[in-house]
Amino acid sequence: MRLILKKNTLPEEANELVARLQWMNLQGILTQENEQFQIAVVNGDDTRIDYKQFSVLPQVEKVLPFTQKFKLAGREFKKKNTVVQLKNCKIGDGSLTVMAGPCSIESEEQMFQIAESISKAGAHILRGGAFKPRSSPYDFQGLGKEGLLHMKKAADHFNLVSVSEVMDPYELDLIAEHVDILQIGARNMQNFSLLKQVGKTGKPVLLKRGLSATYMDFLMAAEYILQTGNPHVILCERGIRTFETYTRNTLDIAAVAILHELSHLPIIVDPSHGTGIRKMVPPMAYAAVAAGADGLMIEVHPNPDKSYSDANQTISLECFDEMMKKIRVIKEACDSA
Ligand code: PEP
Ligand code: MN
Repeated sequence: MRLILKKNTLPEEANELVARLQWMNLQGILTQENEQFQIAVVNGDDTRIDYKQFSVLPQVEKVLPFTQKFKLAGREFKKKNTVVQLKNCKIGDGSLTVMAGPCSIESEEQMFQIAESISKAGAHILRGGAFKPRSSPYDFQGLGKEGLLHMKKAADHFNLVSVSEVMDPYELDLIAEHVDILQIGARNMQNFSLLKQVGKTGKPVLLKRGLSATYMDFLMAAEYILQTGNPHVILCERGIRTFETYTRNTLDIAAVAILHELSHLPIIVDPSHGTGIRKMVPPMAYAAVAAGADGLMIEVHPNPDKSYSDANQTISLECFDEMMKKIRVIKEACDSA
C-alpha cells in the first residue's frame, strides 16, 4: 500500500506520519518526487490491510495498492532513476561508471599498479576481493583485512571509490570501515539476513544477480536492502547458469533493458564473470554499454595469467585501456543517437 500525500505537505508532517505508522506497527518508507511525498507501507501483507482507515490520516490525498511485489525497487513507487553518488561519480545518472580491478587483492604493489592504470584509462571505481567466495576450499581464499588495507591505500591515493565483497556478517564491520561500496556476490544474493545487515549500514550496496535468479528473485533481493531504509542499491548482471557450457555463464544483456523498465535502480554489467573468457570481455562490455548499462565491472591484472583467481576471464591493463577508448566512442554514439 502507498500513501500519496497532499502537495502542500511539509517534510516534518510527512515524517510525523511515518512515526504514526510506526506506532501502528507499520513500517513506512518515505520518498519525494515532483514535490509530492509518498509513503510506502512495506511490512505485512497488503491484501489483509483495510485501506479506508489510512485515507483519514492527516495529509493523505489517496491510498493506492502496489500492483507489483517489488514495492520499493519498482517504478510504481519511484519513477525517476535512483542515482548513487560517491565522491565524483554518480551511478545511474545516465553516465557510465566503470569499476575495475583484480578478482583477488594480491599485494599492495599490485593494487597501486592497477589503480594507477585504470584511473588513467578513465575508470572511477577500484574493485578487489579480500574475502573470496571460492567453489573449492583449497583455492586462494583472499588476503582478508590485509587486502582491504592495500585496496584502501591505493584507492585513496588515486582518488578512486572502492568496492569489495562481503560474504558474511562477521566481516561486515571491517569491510564497511575500509570500503565505499559493499558487494553482495551472486552466491549470496538470497542470503536474506546478510542483505538486511548490509542494508542497515546505510552504505551503497552492489547486488549481483544470483546464479539462477529470475528478475523477480533479483528485485525481491534488492527489496530486502531497500526495506532497511537504505536506498543506495546498484544491481549487477553477471550472467546466469543455462544449458550452455561454452561460456562460464550466459550473460543476459536483456536484463539491462528489462530491469531499467521495471526498476529505478541503476544496473551495471560484469562481462568478466558473465563469460569467463578473456577474449569475450570487451565485446560483451560494448554490448552492455549499447544496451544502456549504467556501468561495468571488469577484472583486470598486470599479468592476467598469474592472477590468483579467475585468470581465464581477467584482461590485461593494456587491453583495458584499449577497451575504454572504444567504450567512450560507443557511449557517445548511443547518447547522441
Ligand atoms: C566477484 O565479483 O568477485 C565475484 C565473486 O563475482 P560473482 O559473485 O558474480 O561470482
Ligand atoms: Mn572473480
